[in-house]
Amino acid sequence: MKTKPRLVLLGKQGAGKGTQAKSLARHYEIAHLSTGDLFRAQAAAGTAFGLEAKRYMDDGELVPDTIVMGVVEECLAPGGPLSGGFILDGFPRNKAQAVELERVLDGTPLHAIIHLDVPREVVVERLSERRVCVKNGAHIYSVAKPPKELWVCDECGGAVVQRDDDNPDAINKRLDTYERDTRPIREFYKESGHTVVTVDGVGENDAVFERLTSAINSAVS
Ligand code: ADP
Repeated sequence: MKTKPRLVLLGKQGAGKGTQAKSLARHYEIAHLSTGDLFRAQAAAGTAFGLEAKRYMDDGELVPDTIVMGVVEECLAPGGPLSGGFILDGFPRNKAQAVELERVLDGTPLHAIIHLDVPREVVVERLSERRVCVKNGAHIYSVAKPPKELWVCDECGGAVVQRDDDNPDAINKRLDTYERDTRPIREFYKESGHTVVTVDGVGENDAVFERLTSAINSAVS
């Protein structure tokens, strides 16, 4: 594919956005921006900005839009890490961020908004069983599919742990926030003439990946 896709991946927490975005970024040779991974890396590094973000994340709350936009705007700047195509994972998270994204893109069109659809009861189970690498949050495991050596990341040797916000209270709060703030973004994109595609996110990773690439290939060509 000559055109480098510019994509937004939407879906509930635990829908598989991180896992799939990572594979899609490799497949299309585009950048993967996960605002959640970025905030966690900053928090682990102990930067002022990361520690500020962590206060919200651990409570299952959204990080304020001004902080999020600062990070995203830097990445989307001309010549920046996202200038050769991208997949956005975990951003935008509400309508205000979607509007801001349009402003930052300044007329550069998004090829598709992909909604990775998984029922709430399935994601609740996935999130309680999820374990992630502390060094690279995109390396994701579960109680059912642990790394070869317990609990050391197969890919980078980092410790594999449960995320602070994958506890029952924070999970429910995050999913409620998704329903209230993130779900309406799809309507915003449809109303503004974007291509919005829903892909079934239930099933084995490979099967979901096939569905995603076929949806993206149709949207981008
Ligand atoms: P999840 O979608 O499972 O909550 P993420 O890794 O995408 O996981 O995000 C973790 C946390 O990081 C969120 O609960 C929120 O506090 C913060 N965060 C990530 N992206 C955004 C965003 N675009 N706007 C506001 N907060 C965000």
